Amino acid sequence: MSKMASMTLSAGAVDFIDDARLTRLVGETKSDAVRVREIIAKSLAKQALTVEETAALVAADAPERAEEIFEAARRLKRDVYGNRIVLFAPLYVGNRCVNDCFYCGFRRSNAEAVRRTLSPGELRTQVEALERAGHKRLILVFGEHGAYDADFIARCVRTVYATRTGRGEIRRVNVNAAPLDPEGYRKVKEAGIGTYQIFHETYHHATYARLHPPGTRKADYLFRLDGPSRAMEAGCDDVGIGVLFGLADWRFEVLGLVAHALHLQERYGVGPHTISFPRLRPACGVRMEWPHLVKDEEFKRLIAILRLSVPYTGLICTARENPSLRREVLGFGVSQIDAGSRIEIGGYTEAGDTQVMEREQFELGDIRPLDAVLRELIQDGYVPSFCTACYRVGRTGEHFMEFAIPGFIKRFCTPNALTTLEEYLTDYASPETRAAGERLISEEVARLEEGPAKAELLRRLDAIRTTEKRDLYF
Ligand code: SAM
Ligand code: SF4
Repeated sequence: MSKMASMTLSAGAVDFIDDARLTRLVGETKSDAVRVREIIAKSLAKQALTVEETAALVAADAPERAEEIFEAARRLKRDVYGNRIVLFAPLYVGNRCVNDCFYCGFRRSNAEAVRRTLSPGELRTQVEALERAGHKRLILVFGEHGAYDADFIARCVRTVYATRTGRGEIRRVNVNAAPLDPEGYRKVKEAGIGTYQIFHETYHHATYARLHPPGTRKADYLFRLDGPSRAMEAGCDDVGIGVLFGLADWRFEVLGLVAHALHLQERYGVGPHTISFPRLRPACGVRMEWPHLVKDEEFKRLIAILRLSVPYTGLICTARENPSLRREVLGFGVSQIDAGSRIEIGGYTEAGDTQVMEREQFELGDIRPLDAVLRELIQDGYVPSFCTACYRVGRTGEHFMEFAIPGFIKRFCTPNALTTLEEYLTDYASPETRAAGERLISEEVARLEEGPAKAELLRRLDAIRTTEKRDLYF
């Protein structure tokens, strides 16, 4: 029997978004070169910035200040994250929806949308197609509907983990779905989800109220804002937050995101695992005027600012963006991208080379295959990673901060990135990508300190190339 989440809130739930304060900070903050440099120095010392400090970076729009911010973001990204980029694919399970979000092709009043929910067999077929392409990490995406309750989501997660083809397997399943109640989060956690993502869309109350009609579930601002908190309290300590940029002033939204990250950090001792910053895209049946669309230059600035404000949070740039812009923003902050993505329901086996708007939530900007994206990353000197080790050995949440533990990246992240890349190269890559990838792996290995850890890594890389052994994580 399907059941919508009860509207129970977290203990001490509070609406911590003070519009008047954020609007004042956007309108009145002045920032000079000295202040910007002080704030940058704090961030480079890997301390999270306050909302006020973030506002000072937002206000620093003179070209030379903006360039300093880009440069600092590039440096922080290099120092903290290194050159790894984590890859994943979205998998849309169903587009039935009880909400009526004005910007979304899935909204209930959109008669042009073709409604569909994958059956368990169809879900397996999609997963097999993704595994055959070489994917190891997925995010399952759902509209909000009684048919997509926590039990249904948990069943889908289990089906994905149980689907294997050849050497393929999905090792981490994340979810982007409506906020749940505590019991619902416990169910999906038990099924083994990685991150639970909920985008607040817009933190600006009046805009939120305008775009989410009264009487719909999503119209309840606090219930959604509190979604990640409930997840934390129910034991899902990997949460992802985000804004749909283009609905309200981007500067206000950046402050909202930082306020949300700080709220989670203060209350639960751990901030969000990831922040996403989708930009509004053309969607089937959406014909509104959007006065706050974010220009490329502003988009780049907001990513760099977020990088500096929340140094320990992963930043995700999706295939909504076109390839050249994605390539550029990888340099100053983004740590995860999706690749080879299709968002038509059933799109991994049924879609051709072009997108079918009636079957998808919005239009993508980058539908290149995984192999092409991966090859470009390698050519640009990044190490594509399919690593899923931390969450599988319980290195998550409050007790664990990969970036705060000295030498952690060297001990775990780099070797795991290289072994998972080697799996891809051996099992799935085109000859050209394989050659480029093997060169990159040799260069990366050459840079590592001699010793038992390096010897062990070399043994594992060799085992992947020459035997059936897989999933040899550190
Ligand atoms: N239905 C759930 C919800 O609204 O939270 C989860 C999934 S929804 C399918 C995923 C996200 O897509 C939304 O949170 C929203 O930010 C984004 N989205 C909706 N319409 C969009 C559009 N036209 N362009 C870009 N992103 C969009
Ligand atoms: Fe439904 Fe989510 Fe789309 Fe809103 S954004 S109409 S809740 S699928």
